[in-house]
Amino acid sequence: MNRPHVIDVLVIGAGPSGSALAIDLVRRGLDVRIVDRSARAFDGSRAKGIQPRSLEILEDLGALDDVLAGGSVYPKLGLHAGPLAVPWRMFPHKKATADVPYPNTWLIPQFRTDRALHSRLGELGLKVEFGCELTELTQGEGAVVARVAGADGTEEIVARYVVGADGGSSAVRKQLGVGFVGTTHESDRVLIVDASVTGLARDRWHMWPGPGGKLIGACPLPHSDMFQWMIRLAPDEEPPSKKEDLLRRIHDHTRDRRIQLHDVHWTSVFRPNIRLAESYGRGHVFLAGDAAHVHTPAGAQGLNTGMQDGYNLGWKLGQVLAGADATLLDTYEAERQPIAAGVLGLSTAKWGGIAKLDPSSMKRGKDEQQLALTYYGGPLAPADGMRTATLRVGDRAPDAELLRADGTGTRLFDVIRGPDFAALAYGPGAARDLEQLAWPTKGAQLKRLVVGPTATDSFAFSDFKNTLRRAYGLTGDTLLLIRPDGYIGHIATSDFLTTTQTAARAMTP
Ligand SMILES: Cc1cc2nc3c(=O)[nH]c(=O)nc-3n(C[C@H](O)[C@H](O)[C@H](O)COP(=O)(O)OP(=O)(O)OC[C@H]3O[C@@H](n4cnc5c(N)ncnc54)[C@H](O)[C@@H]3O)c2cc1C
Repeated sequence: MNRPHVIDVLVIGAGPSGSALAIDLVRRGLDVRIVDRSARAFDGSRAKGIQPRSLEILEDLGALDDVLAGGSVYPKLGLHAGPLAVPWRMFPHKKATADVPYPNTWLIPQFRTDRALHSRLGELGLKVEFGCELTELTQGEGAVVARVAGADGTEEIVARYVVGADGGSSAVRKQLGVGFVGTTHESDRVLIVDASVTGLARDRWHMWPGPGGKLIGACPLPHSDMFQWMIRLAPDEEPPSKKEDLLRRIHDHTRDRRIQLHDVHWTSVFRPNIRLAESYGRGHVFLAGDAAHVHTPAGAQGLNTGMQDGYNLGWKLGQVLAGADATLLDTYEAERQPIAAGVLGLSTAKWGGIAKLDPSSMKRGKDEQQLALTYYGGPLAPADGMRTATLRVGDRAPDAELLRADGTGTRLFDVIRGPDFAALAYGPGAARDLEQLAWPTKGAQLKRLVVGPTATDSFAFSDFKNTLRRAYGLTGDTLLLIRPDGYIGHIATSDFLTTTQTAARAMTP
């Protein structure tokens, strides 16, 4: 009998979490399949806010250009009080800096983000297998058998690892028997409608408050004539489904009869669910995105947190498949579950306040942008490690402007882009030890960067504007190890070679 072909990773679900993960796995040269039970890509606007940290990740994954082309910065809120619409800036618009290239939350409907990710997957040679639904999982010795039902019947796919990125009602989570702890607010329902609209200014995210927090919001979707409407329903209210009923509901609430709805592209009713998976995986099966955590849409965190789950898990799967100790995979839950728990608290607080138009709930800032998220204190970032004036191990590695020896400029993010680790030696002592740093030939490789105040024979890059020194808080010779997901894996301000080698051992074959 022929032995079945065993692939490296099977990803269940081609939403943003599964697609981002699949891109990262494929660019590592792994044998990957991604299946989705829908007949085609999702076509609703649902998650429309991409946070600055996710933009950096999309750039690294090679999907940023499409995301930038399909979106815009957020308009101001327009808070309607009688005939007046009071402008209110929800997001401070910031200028890009050397260390933060994308400082603003980006407005783009989810269907475009999903398509940008699918198109990048296609460039890398992997197609999403739509119309294929996971029905059953069985774990054996070092492999998982997944039964996947499609148009041509049921296929058994054997994979070393399976990742369930199959959304809030995850079949993978249920197959694993992992609890999804939290609450669902059955009576707090919101109708979302994507519709072409005339008679409404497109330079505002309109909000019309109503009694008992029953507000209506309408956010313009860039590069289209559509708005995303969010209509908070009364507990016993039947959601209007016909266009005329929808328009009547909008007119009754807004008292603005200039608004006209044309094509209704997509509608959905959701109830805020606030739940966290008790565990992010069992054996060779992991959960990512909404399959592991769901919360209210306030603060635009769900899609972002899901993509970042995938980005955290991808390199770890790659390293373990290349021979690293399997305990590296335990750090996925240890690093990501506390982040999701924090997001649940943040978005629940904002959701409660939005209904009352509480100004602090309408503001968005550092907490939502996800640039300050850190794995410091976790299993790969011991709290007693060395640090610089601004960074601890586990923090995000900031960007910087550098000059190559030939005088051309570049960004640190451009140099370190890709699936590998980077080691950055600042100063001659760190540079000498970096040369001797041994690195395994299997798994993610090491990019070695030597940076000095000026680019000379001994330094390939110069920190000509001191942007690296400032962002990284460098005060003397330093050797930094940057993980493939752009977080600081180790900081050495002394004992460069031995301490870096020890830190690398936990993350490499
Ligand atoms: C109104 C609203 C606004 C939101 N706004 C934001 C926002 O601005 N920013 C933000 O970050 N988040 C936002 N969110 C949350 C965001 O939409 C989700 O967190 C995000 O879609 C999760 O992505 P995912 O890939 O984990 O899951 P999903 O997008 O749900 O994708 C899961 C995929 O798995 C597939 N699937 C399911 N079961 C199976 C199976 N058995 N076999 C095969 N395939 C399967 C599904 O077809 C689907 O394609 C919002 C949500 C709502 C409701």
